[in-house]
Amino acid sequence: MSQPRLVLFDIDCTLLRTGGAGMAALSQALCQILEGAPPQSAVPPCGQTDPNIVRAMLREAGLPSSRWGEVESRLLEVYPELLAEELQRRRPESRLERGVQRLVEDMHAHPEFRLGVLTGNLEVTARMKLDVFGLNPYFPIGAFGSDCADRNRLGPVALERARRHYACEFSQVWFIGDTHHDILAARACGARVLAVATGSSTRDRLQEFCPDHCLDHLEAVDEVVQLLLGSMPG
Ligand SMILES: [Mg+2]
Repeated sequence: MSQPRLVLFDIDCTLLRTGGAGMAALSQALCQILEGAPPQSAVPPCGQTDPNIVRAMLREAGLPSSRWGEVESRLLEVYPELLAEELQRRRPESRLERGVQRLVEDMHAHPEFRLGVLTGNLEVTARMKLDVFGLNPYFPIGAFGSDCADRNRLGPVALERARRHYACEFSQVWFIGDTHHDILAARACGARVLAVATGSSTRDRLQEFCPDHCLDHLEAVDEVVQLLLGSMPG
């Protein structure tokens, strides 16, 4: 059999959304550690790794850079517990993106594909978000914000884990994501990329970064599968 394709999904606004639980929990964690009122953060989380979001929040809070390392590690320690509460509280607003349930089921069962995630979330919090919708079994491997704050360096981490886990090489590596950061991270490791305008970036904005394919959403599951198999023009 020919080598399969590795497909790495971004999580937030690509697979699912959790009603802003992540930023709410990070803000609470910062408030707890700095013992102050919750700051109204203007830090845009889309496409960023959690460590970079935290660093931007610390900068925004005016914390001297000499304290960043200590505060960041304490904050990321309390964050998962606070996220668990927020995920529970925001369950009614949480949902999978259109088409995702069938897409991951079909791709998981397809002999040409192997799946993983590539996300700015910490591994523990990524797994918590996926668990809300029972998606963890579809994504046995991944690369996470807890591996490296620089998303552009996560591709090789995911690829190495996938090689070991699936015990094979891959004919192609695909990223699927909703921001230009996903596109740049794919290019940084020579992967192909399918951009989806399901987050805050418009299709026109995503097209500026020249993804291999760009869709409004993942609902047309058979079309997505055909694009990734390379048998349809983009
Ligand atoms: Mg995203």
